[in-house]
Amino acid sequence: MVVGTRWRVAMAGLLAATMVACASAPAGTPNAHTEAHTDPCAANAAQSPIEIDPRTTIAGTISSPDVRYAPTAVVLWNTGKTLQVDYAAGSGNAIVLDGVRFDLIQFHFHWPKEHPIVGLAAEMELHLVHADERDNLAVLGVPIVVGGDGTGVLDELFAAIPGGNGWRSLPANPFDASRLRPGTSAKIFRYTGSLTTSPFTECVRWIVYDRALVVSPRGFAAYKARFPEPYSHPPQPLNGRVPVRPGG
Ligand SMILES: [Zn+2]
Repeated sequence: MVVGTRWRVAMAGLLAATMVACASAPAGTPNAHTEAHTDPCAANAAQSPIEIDPRTTIAGTISSPDVRYAPTAVVLWNTGKTLQVDYAAGSGNAIVLDGVRFDLIQFHFHWPKEHPIVGLAAEMELHLVHADERDNLAVLGVPIVVGGDGTGVLDELFAAIPGGNGWRSLPANPFDASRLRPGTSAKIFRYTGSLTTSPFTECVRWIVYDRALVVSPRGFAAYKARFPEPYSHPPQPLNGRVPVRPGG
């Protein structure tokens, strides 16, 4: 994942709050770094992404995020590595996770995917990045498969990627991020991990969906034409972590 300017500015605040972040990790989540290190978020023991095998996840008494997305103005940004879609502070888009509100800061894409899910042949991955008022991070990860007829939301977005490295554009119409949710039948896995780009800071709350969004072969080709270089971090050791499903 990659984060925006606002978050980078707030890095010092995030690091200062790391103990709090880990102390409130999902209940029932085995967390290898809670006691073994005095600075758990610098331990390099709970990195992302991870491979998720639905057969070995555990059910826990955790909740799914309450997703509160609505149409709003966004900025499309060609970072040179990915399409990033930025939200202004106060856009009203947020999730509520374990009773805490996390505002949507931005979303972006990875090709190839970052979280392999056993049994799901995804090509890409969407990361919706949120921060609470203390700049703790929560990320929704959504797999993306190639198929369909080219009428979906990802085909619309990939047709509108600004053409040059560093270019930004402001679409005329509001964008509705609720269209990026992979259907009502989707379930989630939760675990505590890290940023998948430098500085790989830990204590990030990850919520990964088990259902995929669809982009057409033409839309996928359009994306790779803009970003021909792979932009993906490989799976990292679990180190005792087990993704948790809500409802156990
Ligand atoms: Zn990402």
